[in-house]
Amino acid sequence: MNQRLEKIDTLWVHATDTPFSKKTTKKDLYQWHVIERNWADIGYHFYGNRDGIITQCRTLTTLGAHTYGYNRNSLGFCFEYGGVEKGWDEKPTELSLFSFERVLESLFVVLPNLKFLKGHCDAGNTQKTCPMFDYRKAFDPVFVNGEKYLLKAPTFLSK
Ligand SMILES: [Zn+2]
Repeated sequence: MNQRLEKIDTLWVHATDTPFSKKTTKKDLYQWHVIERNWADIGYHFYGNRDGIITQCRTLTTLGAHTYGYNRNSLGFCFEYGGVEKGWDEKPTELSLFSFERVLESLFVVLPNLKFLKGHCDAGNTQKTCPMFDYRKAFDPVFVNGEKYLLKAPTFLSK
């Protein structure tokens, strides 16, 4: 299933729920999604680990499998971090947030209608609590002032 770049308007954020004592690799995601659930590929478009290394798992024009009911015209980005050992306040590492912003900058170049950043828990049809941290606060630099969910393009694009 494909989607058109110009129709993509939302980036959904997820978390692996990986405790600090463990690591989640792309191979793990493949195991969970492809081997165990028999999906066509890893469900997310991007995976960002604690070291800030971003792996692309699906092309942008390939429909994702990350937010049930909301996969159409959207992308899924999953961060590696955990909530189990430290409660719900943990957030992605500075390194992964830095890399995430670089990915956002690239996405704004090719996705003219990308506007919204939402957490999986905002879908309203899931028990999932990810991304578990206050992502609106964590991603404050990428939101338009005061506008809930609304992303802003990096300033170099508007010049
Ligand atoms: Zn999720």
